[in-house]
Amino acid sequence: MSAPDITIVIPLYNEGEVFPQMVERLIQLASLSKSEIEFLLVDDGSKDQTAVLMRMLALTDERFTCIFLSRNHGHQLAVTAGLNYARGTKAVMVMDGDLQDPPELMFSFLQKIDEGFDVVYAVRKNRKESRLKKICYALFYRILKKISYIDLPLDSGDFSMMSRRVVDIMNKMPEESRYIRGMRSWVGFKQFGFEYDRAERAAGEAKYGIKMLFNLAFNGVFNFSEFPIKLITRLGIGTMLLSIFYFIMVLYKRYILGIEVIEGFTATLFTIILFSSVQLISIGVLGEYIIRIFFQVKGRPLFIVKERIANKKSQE
Ligand code: UDP
Ligand code: MG
Repeated sequence: MSAPDITIVIPLYNEGEVFPQMVERLIQLASLSKSEIEFLLVDDGSKDQTAVLMRMLALTDERFTCIFLSRNHGHQLAVTAGLNYARGTKAVMVMDGDLQDPPELMFSFLQKIDEGFDVVYAVRKNRKESRLKKICYALFYRILKKISYIDLPLDSGDFSMMSRRVVDIMNKMPEESRYIRGMRSWVGFKQFGFEYDRAERAAGEAKYGIKMLFNLAFNGVFNFSEFPIKLITRLGIGTMLLSIFYFIMVLYKRYILGIEVIEGFTATLFTIILFSSVQLISIGVLGEYIIRIFFQVKGRPLFIVKERIANKKSQE
């Protein structure tokens, strides 16, 4: 197989249960496609049978290339590894391995790329998830859009297709705490949001725990917004003005109106607690930026690939 036109990157972590279904859908897709497709499966340190299934597949079907990370690096880094190894000369698509992202959208994405768009990202019109999760997602994307210094699309995840030149740029971005959907917007060029209904997971359980979701959300906020750190300064100025006002009021009462001023214990206690918590939160916010600098400065590789399996013919 010469260099493929399109690479489809799929990160997998313990997806043994959906794997057969997914492969079936992908093979079907390949048979319908005029373009030459490379499926690039990324094993993110799975502990189930995923890696074994991937290995067997890569050895028997030359359309599938598999890379194996040295341990679980997390979804964003698994996708990053995929983007680095993708050989598609025209475009690269990123999708989840649980069939929540219908692979058939590739045709619509590709059409937009042909029309001259560099990025086509999927926008979730509907998602089949619990009410609470839906509300949290909706709120998060709206707040982030408000406070971000770049224009981030609403309700869009990593499911997308990027032109070769955008992928090359993404691969040159060395940031360690990655929020790929944000980086993709930051790149610019002509981008198109494609609406779709997000399906339910075909099998298995969600691999994104609540802690991982929060991590991702924090990466979005602290990598794409300076609002939190600016808020601290504004809070400081606000409270300073408030205290000056209060001080003047006390002086006025005491010397102009001649009222004896007795300060309340509760008010003092309340003020102390309020300001210590504001200070703690402020230190925490600073910490979020510092921790990102800390990890960035180390300059460690973002991920480690321990093995790549591709059919001999596709190595040429
Ligand atoms: N995933 C991964 N590494 C992880 C967690 C998840 O590569 O540490 C993959 C997972 O196998 C799936 C995709 O990322 O293909 C999305 O995960 P999941 O379906 O759990 O997320 P959700 O759809 O709930 O956001
Ligand atoms: Mg999923």
